Amino acid sequence: MNDWLKDEIGKTYNNYINGEWIRSRTGETFEIYNPARKKQVLGLFQASNEDDVHQAVEAAHEAFKEWSNVPGPDRGAILTRFADLLEKHSDELAFILSAEQGKVLAESKGEVGRAVKETRFVAGEALRIEGSTLPSEKSNIATSVLHKPLGVIAAIAPWNFPVVTPVRKIAPALAYGCTVVYKPASETPWSSIRLMELLEEAGVPKGVVNLVTGGGSKVGNALISHPLVKGISFTGSTNIGVGINEKATKLLKKTQLELGGKNPAVVVDYDEAAYVAQQIVSAAFACSGQRCTSISRVIVLKEKAGEIIQAIQAELEQVKVGPASNSSATIGPLVNQDQLDTTLSYIESGKEEGAQLVYGGNVLSEGEYSEGYYIVPGLFTGVQSEMKIAKEEIFGPVLSVIEVDNLEEAIQVANDVKYGLAASIFTKDLALAYKFVNEVESGMVHVNHGTASQAHAPFGGVKESGYGAFSIGKTNKDFFTEMKVAYFLY
Ligand code: NAD
Repeated sequence: MNDWLKDEIGKTYNNYINGEWIRSRTGETFEIYNPARKKQVLGLFQASNEDDVHQAVEAAHEAFKEWSNVPGPDRGAILTRFADLLEKHSDELAFILSAEQGKVLAESKGEVGRAVKETRFVAGEALRIEGSTLPSEKSNIATSVLHKPLGVIAAIAPWNFPVVTPVRKIAPALAYGCTVVYKPASETPWSSIRLMELLEEAGVPKGVVNLVTGGGSKVGNALISHPLVKGISFTGSTNIGVGINEKATKLLKKTQLELGGKNPAVVVDYDEAAYVAQQIVSAAFACSGQRCTSISRVIVLKEKAGEIIQAIQAELEQVKVGPASNSSATIGPLVNQDQLDTTLSYIESGKEEGAQLVYGGNVLSEGEYSEGYYIVPGLFTGVQSEMKIAKEEIFGPVLSVIEVDNLEEAIQVANDVKYGLAASIFTKDLALAYKFVNEVESGMVHVNHGTASQAHAPFGGVKESGYGAFSIGKTNKDFFTEMKVAYFLY
């Protein structure tokens, strides 16, 4: 851990409301811990309640009156400054991120870099909030379609990407003229404190972005139910997202939901099994498998299964589990005991249902590992598509291999889950690749590489993996603005 971080550990952090750093009205705080050193308290954060949420939403509502009228190019310029600051402070942000989330530094740096790129993209979008002019039924009426800022946005994020997820919500909200109240996950609120400081330094006026920390059921619920909140941008589990959507629909609020996944990689044919294995292992186990886009099912043609399983095992031998402070570690610990317990219970269920655990899946608890939530990535073979490990999102480092006879069956198995976030196919046959792209039920599809995304392309899922406008890219405009049709009689 670097010296800067040592000096910062254990401090008490406040909410950021209307440009002020203030304590919760509850007078209570909660602690967060380092997943690599479970007893190390990294900081204390405000255990907020409905009153704090109300104060933050009121501030955002008040700020909206001016911010929504700031010209797009000026909002874009502030966001460009924010991107510059994120870039300037990327090392420090990456250290905080690794400390609170557990991912290795290379991944944290990649995440901050992604936040920079996405912010630069939406800063440009602030200059392109285009409407349209329609032909008119009458010669003396001009008809225009305008896109107006939606209003106050509730932004709620999970703990797996605590820098890029809020940036992915806050930056477009600001670009399109909305204001924000942000609630981070209780495990990872620390990096959000730095994000607020950098937004302020970039010139975001008071009240335009607010941060309220605390529990999901109290703070999150108060936020989504608040009458002045017009839109909810939520990333998290499908269960919570569905509950939020039910409430929002009753209150006629817009939602943008990024939810869970059970992502397949279909393997048909290839030049090199080692390349396919490298792509699969990297997409399955980055962030210790705690990514919504993690590959969790390898669906492989029977005649290729032996070779692919062997290549995946060889690739897994290269994975080094360890703390972010160990520069040779390639994946970090899980975020907390709950995640470890859940992962272990899925491993048990896989064994009970008759799948073979051919690699890893064991907890590491000796020496330096005794201090964190470490597990060796697990590989199951002989998995049947109806098994729990093949159906449910594990959100941990467990990969299942399912063997099939042909591409038809592979697509049927790929689609036989409630999720539809990301999918991959490995094949040299363009026609098969196209068939898969066409038929797989998935928001994002990858041909000959693992699940990944780009900073300017729409990101989202179908079925129970997402709802509402995709995030990133131009589709954000559909969520963060509402239409107004103007008829000018002249
Ligand atoms: P979670 O649903 O438990 O929590 C997400 C956020 O919602 C947290 O901030 C939490 O405090 C808050 N929350 C909890 N209950 C709430 C309520 N009743 N009202 C309002 N807010 C509430 O998810 P998690 O365990 O933090 O994250 C893991 C999940 O997130 C996985 O399912 C993963 O697939 C999903 N995820 C999806 C994407 C995507 O883009 N599709 C990205 C990352 C993570």
